[in-house]
Amino acid sequence: MVVRRSTGIAAALVCALVLGAGLVSAQRPAVTDPIRTFVDVDAPVVAFVNARIIDGTGAVPREAQTLVVRDGTIATVGASAELAPPAGATIIDLAGKTLMPGLVMLHEHLYYPVGPGVYGQLGQSFVRLYLAGGVTTMRTGGNMNGFMDINLKRAVEDGRVAGPAIDATAPYVNGANAFLQMRSMADATEARRQVGYWADMGATSFKAYMQISRAQLGAVVEEAHARGLKVTGHLCSVTYGEAADLGIDNLEHGFFAATDFVQDKQPDVCPGQGAGQQTIAGLDESQPAFQSLMRKLIDRKVALTSTLTVFETYTPGRPMPPGLEVLLPALREQFEQNYRRTAENANSPYRTLFPKAMALERAFVRAGGLLVVGTDPTGGGGVVPGYSNQRALELLVDAGFTPLEAITIGTRNGARYLGREDRIGTISVGKQADLVILNGDPSRSIGDLRKVELVFRQGIGFSPAKLIASVSGKVGLW
Ligand SMILES: [Zn+2]
Repeated sequence: MVVRRSTGIAAALVCALVLGAGLVSAQRPAVTDPIRTFVDVDAPVVAFVNARIIDGTGAVPREAQTLVVRDGTIATVGASAELAPPAGATIIDLAGKTLMPGLVMLHEHLYYPVGPGVYGQLGQSFVRLYLAGGVTTMRTGGNMNGFMDINLKRAVEDGRVAGPAIDATAPYVNGANAFLQMRSMADATEARRQVGYWADMGATSFKAYMQISRAQLGAVVEEAHARGLKVTGHLCSVTYGEAADLGIDNLEHGFFAATDFVQDKQPDVCPGQGAGQQTIAGLDESQPAFQSLMRKLIDRKVALTSTLTVFETYTPGRPMPPGLEVLLPALREQFEQNYRRTAENANSPYRTLFPKAMALERAFVRAGGLLVVGTDPTGGGGVVPGYSNQRALELLVDAGFTPLEAITIGTRNGARYLGREDRIGTISVGKQADLVILNGDPSRSIGDLRKVELVFRQGIGFSPAKLIASVSGKVGLW
C-alpha cells in the first residue's frame, strides 16, 4: 500500500484549518502509548484515492473514488478524477482495493470455553482480534465476568486499549441454572434489582438466558427500557412469541433457540434446547404457525441475530473454522478433537437443522425483518474473534444472501439496531471514519473480507498484522 503526503501550495493554510477543526470537534481520539504500537496511520487528514467503495447500504460499489477523512470524520467522497486530495493530506492509494464500513457485530463475547463448564476471560486478546478482523463496533451478548466488558468499553473509549467500540452487556439475567459463573435470579424483584445495579455500573444492554421466567423477563425489559437500554435473549423457557409480547428488542441465534413449536411446552420451563431444535429442523417456512410468529416479530420490531458461525462448529462436514492458529496450543487441540468427533456423528441433527435455520433467516429478511449478525465465541470453541466475524458474512452468503446484502447485515443493520445509524454502519459524509481496507472485492467474492489491510476507527488506522502478532499462540491466557 502506498502512503504519501500531499504537498500543495495551500498546505500551511489547510493545516491551520485542520488544527482549528480539531479543537472544536475532537472526533479523532489521541493515540496513547499503549495503542501506538498497533497504529499504522495517525494523521489529521487522510485521503484515500482510487478506491472501490462499498458503502454498506446495499448500493452497487462505486469505482475510482476519493474519500477524505478529516479529524476522524468522513469529510468528502467523490470521483478521484474530479476530486483532488486536500493539500497536506496523507494520501493512501487504494487502486484495486475496497473501502467499506467497519463491521458492527452484535453477538460477541470477551470469554471463551477453556474447560468443562469454565469460561476463561480473554477480553485483552479478543478486543485486538475483533479490531484486526474489521470489527469497529460490537455488542457483547452477555458476560461471565462481571465488570470486564464495562471496563474494556471505557478503556477503548479513552484510547488505552486497541479495540472496537463496545456496547457492554451486563452479566446474564437468568432464572435457576447450573452455570458456576452465572447468577440464578429468584424472582422478578431480583431481576429489577439486577438491571438497576448493572445499569448504574455502566452496562449498556442486557441478555436474558435460557431459564428466565416470563415474569422476570418482563421486569428486565421494563427496567431496561425505563433507562433507555435494550434487551436481547437466548431463550428457551420463554418462547419467541411470548418474549415479543413482553417487549424484548432482539432474539439471538436466528430461530435455533425458538421453543414456540414444541408440543405441550410448559410455561416458564425450558424443554431442552434439543427439543426446540427438533421442531425447527422440521419446519416449513410457509407453515402458517411460522408465518404468524414471523409476522409478530416484525410487527413488534424484534430484531433477529444470526450466529451461524457457532452452529457451523456443531455441524458435520463443514470446513475447519479460520483463526485456530492464534489459540493457545492446548485450546487448539481441544477444539480439533471436538471437530473430529462432530465429523464422525452420522446422526447429528445439525445436518438438517443448519441448512433449515439458514432458510428461516432468509425468510425473515424477505418478509421485512431486521436481521443482524454476530459470531458467539462460546459453544465448544473454534469461533475465534475477528476471523469468525468474516466467516459470519461468508455464511450469510451460503444462506442465500448476496454479498452486498451480507455486508449490509454486518454493517448498517447492526448500527440501526444500536440506534447509531447516524454515526456508524455506512459510508457517507459526516459519519465517523470507521473503515476497513480490503485487498480485493468482497461484492464479487465474499471471501475477500479476509484480506484486511488496515482498519480505521475514528480516523486512526490500525494494522491487523500487528494486532494479531501481539496475541498469536497466546489466545487462551488473557
Ligand atoms: Zn452467546
